Amino acid sequence: MAGRVAVVVVVLLTAIAIWQTRGTGPDLSRVAVVRSPEGIMGTTCTLVAVVPRGREAHAQRGLDAAEQALREVDALMSTYLESSEISAVNRAAADELVSVSEELASVLVYSRDVWRASDGAFDATCRPMIELWRRAGREGSLPADAEMDAARESSSWKDFELLDNGVRKAKDTARLDLGGVAKGFGIDRAFEAIRAAGCDGVLVDVGGDVRVDGVDARGEAWKITVRNPFGPKPLAAFGLAAGSVCTSGDYERFVEIDGVRHSHIIDPRTGRPAGSVPSVTVVATDAMTADAWATALGVLGAEGLDRLPTGVEALLVEGDERSCRMITNREMERRLGEFGKPPCSE
Ligand code: AMP
Ligand code: MG
Repeated sequence: MAGRVAVVVVVLLTAIAIWQTRGTGPDLSRVAVVRSPEGIMGTTCTLVAVVPRGREAHAQRGLDAAEQALREVDALMSTYLESSEISAVNRAAADELVSVSEELASVLVYSRDVWRASDGAFDATCRPMIELWRRAGREGSLPADAEMDAARESSSWKDFELLDNGVRKAKDTARLDLGGVAKGFGIDRAFEAIRAAGCDGVLVDVGGDVRVDGVDARGEAWKITVRNPFGPKPLAAFGLAAGSVCTSGDYERFVEIDGVRHSHIIDPRTGRPAGSVPSVTVVATDAMTADAWATALGVLGAEGLDRLPTGVEALLVEGDERSCRMITNREMERRLGEFGKPPCSE
């Protein structure tokens, strides 16, 4: 009797399995159109538009517009390009009115807002300090205290007047750097360009910072994996229906002087490279918010979590390879759910 029941169960299970494969077999109704343009913001770039089969041409047009948007943002906001608007502002003399695009003006206003909200930790006027530490890295010797003080004094938001038709500086030496936020702004512009083409799913990835919406080609939520700065196992993995994830960290970008690594993020309060936060990952609705706050928390560490705008999530790794800990705010803890907090040393 027991044998017969087992057979029935097996037959039933097989029937259910066949029915399930029929019902949920590979969904071929959508296709992912992927492009990886080169020379975008000095890093890797992947653009994806998921569309119903047959609408690939629409997707291509969305990707064209996205690529163009990213190149435009770079051309306006890169300090590596002499021809950019930001370089014109940096070169300008005191009292000179430099006219800037609406895009740059909006990023400057946003950057000043985050400077206030982060108690000065995110400071786009810190260009002289960044140049000082880059030069120190090239020459292999630490800057003198007097040089650090001079760099800190030479540029601050009180030296910039943001006007409707441009920017005016109070001092020749005041200079800007949008390296902590322009990528996020560019990702948002590219994202909107793809979405406007009418897609079921969008992914924009510039150097590992992403914004997604909708579904991937299998019709599932996009999977996000957060890299561990100290080990091969991911720190976290989760599905994201819509939003942005940006990471700041000194484990990939730093200057080394006398065998000591110094973060590429400057603590504007001290004029020295920020310490002790090897990796910060922020999840927000848009990429500009996630990008700016990842940089801000790279300076503030866990103490900055209270300053995050409502709904923004963060995951930080503090310490070093021998002794590190993972810290999350309540919103991020909820997202990670059963993934929990693995030891960051694994
Ligand atoms: P991210 O990788 O987004 O954290 O941006 C780091 C870049 O932002 C650096 O390479 C600098 O160009 C710039 N930066 C460094 N320190 C700061 C800071 N405290 N506030 C704003 N931007 C910064
Ligand atoms: Mg940033």
